[in-house]
Amino acid sequence: MKQRTIATPTTTVGIGLHSGRKVTLSIKPAPVNTGIVFVRVDTQERAHVPATALAVCDTRLASVIQKEGVRISTVEHLLSACAGLGLDNLLIELDGEEVPIMDGSAASFLFLVESAGIVEQEALRQFLVIKKPIEVREGDKLARLEPFFGFKLDFTIDFKHPAVDKTGQRFIVDFAEHAYRSEIGRARTFGFAHEVEALREMGLARGGSLDNAIVLDEHRILNNEELRYEDEFVRHKILDAIGDLYLVGHPIVGAYIAEKSGHALNNALLRTLLSDPSSYEISTFTESKAPAAYSQESQPLFF
Ligand SMILES: [Zn+2]
Repeated sequence: MKQRTIATPTTTVGIGLHSGRKVTLSIKPAPVNTGIVFVRVDTQERAHVPATALAVCDTRLASVIQKEGVRISTVEHLLSACAGLGLDNLLIELDGEEVPIMDGSAASFLFLVESAGIVEQEALRQFLVIKKPIEVREGDKLARLEPFFGFKLDFTIDFKHPAVDKTGQRFIVDFAEHAYRSEIGRARTFGFAHEVEALREMGLARGGSLDNAIVLDEHRILNNEELRYEDEFVRHKILDAIGDLYLVGHPIVGAYIAEKSGHALNNALLRTLLSDPSSYEISTFTESKAPAAYSQESQPLFF
């Protein structure tokens, strides 16, 4: 199981969900063992901000990472696409603070990277294998990782909103059997109209619209188009979790179980994991010994 990067550089332009500003995103190949590193090309020294769990500095509206005061905001959908495509090493250049929101899902990033192509590199992938259960709780919220030879996520939501709660509240995805691209990658972010108004008053959510989010008022969905999945809300929470978990810096071999979790609890989970070296080990796999979720033979499923 080799490390992977993008074959050729690729660029797109979008707007930041919160800033509403136009931002150019370029994804470029990087050498083995680089990991995923964001580069702020609008700073004088082209500041590099590695995508790591310990770099997360704000989780209130999105996952934000920083290094020496330079911030990259809303990294989770792009990192989710990177995890789904099995990419280990990338330089991701931005000329602003926020990763563009695109259509609110990971679909545009998947298309961008797949159009550029993916190449294997001359080093083995390093997996993080969960060795014992780790969990964090906050009130009635839970996030947990436990040993499992593969990659499986089990997420339950409970929004107490008629339009959300009539859709599926729980989704379990085992990537030995399901493909990221078709089952998760197209699920859009969502927000509630009264919150959007409050955010706008704080100068946030300026780029948010019905083109890049499912927006709900007190009773119903305001978008004219149909949901992309009948349980799109919980699937988006899984999309977010996959991106948040990828901040651990390795593909995870284990099962993730969450109830009403979000960016803050996902990050607390990773920090708890990393603070206990007996809870995980870093392993490489030959093709025949790799978990099915990650093996090349089942590539059409996970990737
Ligand atoms: Zn999201």
